[in-house]
Amino acid sequence: MSPQVEAAPPPPLKLQQINSPTVYQPKYSDLLSRVNNFSIIESTLREGEQFANAFFDTETKIAIAKALDDFGVEYIELTSPAASEQSRADCVAIANLGLKAKILTHIRCHMDDARIAVETGVDGLDVVIGTSSFLREFSHGKDMAYITKQAIEVIEFIKSKGLEVRFSSEDSFRSDLVDLLNIYRAVDKIGVTRVGIADTVGCANPRQVYELVRTLRGVVSCDIECHFHNDTGCAIANAYAALEAGATHIDTSVLGIGERNGITPLGGLAARMYVADKDYVRGKYKLEKLRDIENLVADAVQIQVPFNNYITGYCAFTHKAGIHAKAILNNPSTYEILKPEDFGMTRYVSIGHRLTGWNAVKNRVQQLDLNLTDEETKAVTQKIKELADIRPLSIDEVDLLLRRYHAAKASGSPQPPDIDEVAKTAA
Ligand SMILES: [Zn+2]
Repeated sequence: MSPQVEAAPPPPLKLQQINSPTVYQPKYSDLLSRVNNFSIIESTLREGEQFANAFFDTETKIAIAKALDDFGVEYIELTSPAASEQSRADCVAIANLGLKAKILTHIRCHMDDARIAVETGVDGLDVVIGTSSFLREFSHGKDMAYITKQAIEVIEFIKSKGLEVRFSSEDSFRSDLVDLLNIYRAVDKIGVTRVGIADTVGCANPRQVYELVRTLRGVVSCDIECHFHNDTGCAIANAYAALEAGATHIDTSVLGIGERNGITPLGGLAARMYVADKDYVRGKYKLEKLRDIENLVADAVQIQVPFNNYITGYCAFTHKAGIHAKAILNNPSTYEILKPEDFGMTRYVSIGHRLTGWNAVKNRVQQLDLNLTDEETKAVTQKIKELADIRPLSIDEVDLLLRRYHAAKASGSPQPPDIDEVAKTAA
């Protein structure tokens, strides 16, 4: 055996080498990145209609469209008017609401669908066709030459009507890269407004997304829209990676509802982008409206907002461990990357449990305007821990304990009040 040579440890990195004040901000300026210059195509009224529970009547669709418009999304995408007569009528109704958001409808790459859609009054059409070997073999059975020819015919027709037109492949990540780039290049040449990449089956990861979008960015000059399904939990990360690689538009739905377990959620994307560029995101979206929009959609499809939902989940701003609570009370940024007040939410420090700390209890004492010394607060905290070892206490029970202790002290009964006696009367 050759003698082991002990390698010297690498020198610690200097700040200039890291070139960023914190690790969560970009390490270098990225010319491709659209992280602070992107648009949302909100598809609750198209993709979301494919959610298992979804049935939106006209009135609900209009309420959702108005709420999304008020929030500030740039585009609202609607179910194809070719799907049913009611879908067509709803498309006309929403296109005529006079919203600030541009209204799009989604159609198959087919002249019959395009002819119906251009008459609805929408601002643009999102055209889609399957390009993966699976879809070509098991769905429509067409080859790439046929697909390209048909795409060009449909796009030319929509453009002749003065509307925006996006051309997207379906199941892009399981399509042949050369086929994909060829068709995108062909439609870019004839002036398509956007090309779309769709991870229809939710198989892509952020690195694959970055590479595909970056490659496409070098091939087309038009905008690039991305659509990510969340089957493996990558939908938000993939959207972010796409923007970093130069994508310009991201598809979302409220609470992520859609086919199977859905797509990039509007709220989750808002959280992600807020952390990347707070001023930009706050400047263009009314973030405090998120909760109302989510409640509106949750009611419409009869689901609850998940407990761990981004921003609006019931525990999204709840701090529990004593050490966290102390730091949060001193400076919320210690454990919060999102400011609850920017989203119309409030922070909650949970104190009625065995992990509680006296700083958090002291904060509650101050909120209740009780006169307890630090030593007294520590004694009550100890009692809360003891009681909460048996079962957690509600905030009302904690408050009662604090008030009784304070009352016993104020009445001049045994000094200091016997906390065990107080706990008995509070129980
Ligand atoms: Zn989809």
